[in-house]
Amino acid sequence: MNFELNEQQLAFQDSVSRFAQRELAGGALRRASSGDYPWDVARMMADMGLLGITVSQDAGGVGGTLSDAVIAIQAVAAVCPRSADVVQAGNFGAIRTFSEYASPAQLKRFLPPLLAGKAVMSVGMSEPQAGSAVTELRTTATADGDDYLINGSKVFGTNSGDASVFLVYVRFGPGTAGIGSVLIERDTAGFTIGKPSAFMNGESWSQLYFDNCRISKENVLLGAGGFRRQIAGFNIERLGNAARAVAVGRHAFEIAKTHAGVREQFGRPLCEFQGLQWKFSDMLLQLESAQLLLMRAVVAADHGLPSAQDTSLAKLACNQAGYFAANESMQILGAFGFSEESIVQYCVRRTRGWMIAGGSTEILKNRIAEGIFERRFSQRA
Ligand SMILES: Cc1cc2nc3c(=O)[nH]c(=O)nc-3n(C[C@H](O)[C@H](O)[C@H](O)COP(=O)(O)OP(=O)(O)OC[C@H]3O[C@@H](n4cnc5c(N)ncnc54)[C@H](O)[C@@H]3O)c2cc1C
Repeated sequence: MNFELNEQQLAFQDSVSRFAQRELAGGALRRASSGDYPWDVARMMADMGLLGITVSQDAGGVGGTLSDAVIAIQAVAAVCPRSADVVQAGNFGAIRTFSEYASPAQLKRFLPPLLAGKAVMSVGMSEPQAGSAVTELRTTATADGDDYLINGSKVFGTNSGDASVFLVYVRFGPGTAGIGSVLIERDTAGFTIGKPSAFMNGESWSQLYFDNCRISKENVLLGAGGFRRQIAGFNIERLGNAARAVAVGRHAFEIAKTHAGVREQFGRPLCEFQGLQWKFSDMLLQLESAQLLLMRAVVAADHGLPSAQDTSLAKLACNQAGYFAANESMQILGAFGFSEESIVQYCVRRTRGWMIAGGSTEILKNRIAEGIFERRFSQRA
């Protein structure tokens, strides 16, 4: 088994790193401090071929592998964590589930502006009453002639304030078997977007309301029975979160490492104190182990969708390692790390969010236990 990058991958990593150093390094702290979607970065990334890396060439994408997409997102996060969100939106998020299951007509209609960095897609799964228990979602799609009427509400959607199209999980009928998904454009009658609210990590989200929102049958991505396929696609989104978590933790680690080499207290650089050396050893151990689990999941799925068990193990390890490293790095930087002048406090807030988003650490552990015992454990009362 070999997780070393090959020559082509190393060259790709090098070109993305050079692009990030040249174009993104200067504005990294400014972007981290702003809730706005970095559209200027999205355009540059489109020009660089960093959006749609795993989307087939026939559909207008790059036709690369999941490993390539992970290389890109981590190379960007190493320089500008906020810009890595653009790589996520263009490769791992709703766009990936969409491009996996969309009809040729849907691809033609929705994909070009997403790949050009001119539009972004948001996923609406969570509802006020359906968070971890997502299959309890209540948003309905009711057939009405050649159309569907959508009624319900969604919360917490990443990029919901900026998206022009939403991939919305809906209920066509009762039970898990009744769940599927539809594509809803921002300006559709009966669809309103509430006022923005901010997460602790600086991202904003808006509640979505569907009130007899009429969409054509052409907007159905997956009909009733599509839930498991949607979640299989969503595992890619989870790996994007995992890849950013470990890379953003590493970003903080590198800053703390430099700081510990030069900051002196008691007449010695911080790196000479064993209490801090052990923090670095623990951080590196967690980051490297998590990265290996990530690459195992990614390489196994390079041209398809990752397994649920590999994804859960990788995301859990990366979420924990990323947050641990960011938090310990902030401690090593002292008051400066806790200040808005340092990007490290942003790294702490970002990595913390991924322990809740896209499968909380508790839900991942439930899923891993199911893999261990090879049976389903219903969480219902
Ligand atoms: C940064 C961020 C981005 C997000 N982006 C999106 C998005 O783009 N689209 C979208 O639809 N949603 C998004 N979400 C919402 C996210 O999917 C939910 O927050 C998540 O599913 C958990 O749901 P909840 O917040 O309602 O918590 P709840 O489900 O109410 O859970 C509360 C706590 O109980 C724990 N818990 C629940 N059930 C169990 C159980 N059976 N066993 C053990 N522990 C359990 C949870 O892990 C959690 O710690 C985002 C959230 C965050 C924080």
